[in-house]
Amino acid sequence: MATNERKIVLVTGASSGIGEAIAVRLVREGHHVVAGARRIDRLRALAERTAPDAARSGGGLHPVRLDVTGRADVAAFVEEARDRFGRVDVLVSNAGVMPLSRLDSLLADEWDRMIDVNVRGLLHGVAAALPVFTAQGGGHFVTVASIGAHQVVPASAVYSGTKYAAWAITEGLRQESDPSIRVTTISPGVVTSELADSITDPGAAEAMRTYRANAIEPDAVAGALSYAIAQPADVDVNEIILRPARQR
Ligand code: NDP
Repeated sequence: MATNERKIVLVTGASSGIGEAIAVRLVREGHHVVAGARRIDRLRALAERTAPDAARSGGGLHPVRLDVTGRADVAAFVEEARDRFGRVDVLVSNAGVMPLSRLDSLLADEWDRMIDVNVRGLLHGVAAALPVFTAQGGGHFVTVASIGAHQVVPASAVYSGTKYAAWAITEGLRQESDPSIRVTTISPGVVTSELADSITDPGAAEAMRTYRANAIEPDAVAGALSYAIAQPADVDVNEIILRPARQR
């Protein structure tokens, strides 16, 4: 890989599932991944596990403790990466939570958590990276939204609401951005991960067991992201929707 193709890619929520798969694939491809999440132990283990790939590819995985619900935390995450590498090429806003429930369960704390992580977390990333991308004359925002950004089903009202919001914010960012800044939304269907573990509502948890039986591996999403960021600078992949072939 030519040095000018080696990107500095920040990934939020890289400690499991889709974020972890993105980090693993990008390190293998020779990129430097600044991997953020609250579970720093998981990120450190991932750095160790990917070290042989990094040695082969010239890339690397750099763990940073991150809580996306804190604006200052996300600003520090982006700043640390820029200080270390001199620039930031891609910000992947992937961190998310999905404690599904019907509205009449009134799990208002879980509604708040979804809004804080899935919406405020995304906005904190925009606030932190947009000035950096503008100053350096380029950059790439990638939002991991969801098929839930395109459809609502019972028990998904708040989660889908946050993902519709993530979709809208990312589309607005695309329309407003200078052409040197690329903006991509990736909307996956059901993918194997820890995402459903946070569901406390028994009805929603049961429904998810059947639904999630069709899940595809998170590397499928990593492949989509890899495609989007590898395009020439004048090509902006706006949105990718991918789901299991069995998910209708
Ligand atoms: P996981 O639960 O496996 O991963 C979620 C990641 O988000 C973890 O790394 C977690 O890290 C991180 N995270 C959660 N809260 C915070 C926080 N406050 N600050 C920083 N990081 C946080 O689920 P997935 O990999 O499936 O989810 C990744 C994204 O993909 C989410 O946005 C999800 O909505 C979306 N998605 C997933 C689908 C699926 O079927 N799996 C389908 C469509 C979209 P930690 O706990 O260590 O902080």
